[in-house]
Amino acid sequence: MQFLRQFSGLLRLQDKTFSTFINAARVQAAVKSVAQSINSHYKGEEVIFLAILDGAFMFAADLLKHVDLTCEISFVKVQSYEGTKSTENVETLLGLDVELEGKNVVILEDIVDTGRTIEKVKDIVGVAKCKSFEVATFLFKPDAFLFEDRPKFVGLEISNTFVVGYGLDYNEKGRNLDAIFQLNTVQKDMLNI
Ligand code: 5GP
Repeated sequence: MQFLRQFSGLLRLQDKTFSTFINAARVQAAVKSVAQSINSHYKGEEVIFLAILDGAFMFAADLLKHVDLTCEISFVKVQSYEGTKSTENVETLLGLDVELEGKNVVILEDIVDTGRTIEKVKDIVGVAKCKSFEVATFLFKPDAFLFEDRPKFVGLEISNTFVVGYGLDYNEKGRNLDAIFQLNTVQKDMLNI
């Protein structure tokens, strides 16, 4: 896999091939730029970051190295389960161990696509009780987004395409990559590689 990637920019994960889309240097520049925007927006304030697992682990780790504020971070996971009534779908944030009332809360996401995940998180957290509530996402797909409030802090806007790397997976693979790869619509069998 590494050989193929290094010399052709192509990546194979299971049955799919991907091409380099955003290289590691551009990824890091975008992360730094998000951190700078956060630093100037919250200057003199304290912030609580909630990183949404699994995808945001790499973005959160790199971003926080550049954050120059007094802050806390909590890694949380959105979990859906059936409530006591069979029609009821209950959502919870696993791992939420900090008090958010009266705090500046910033959600960290790997990618905002339709925006449904963020809406769920807003409902669970109860944004009204926070001093402020914003979203920082590494990638944003404006053409797929279904809601009014766009994320305030965005690393890079991308077209409506499927990507892996830098925390994002294809069947749990590819999260470890330091760059972003785009799914090839012409697949490897057709390319004979
Ligand atoms: P949303 O709720 O905004 O539609 O989607 C959010 C979640 O869908 C992301 O946290 C991510 O797990 C997944 N997702 C959306 N687009 C992509 C993509 O292009 N690649 C990967 N790997 N996951 C995606």
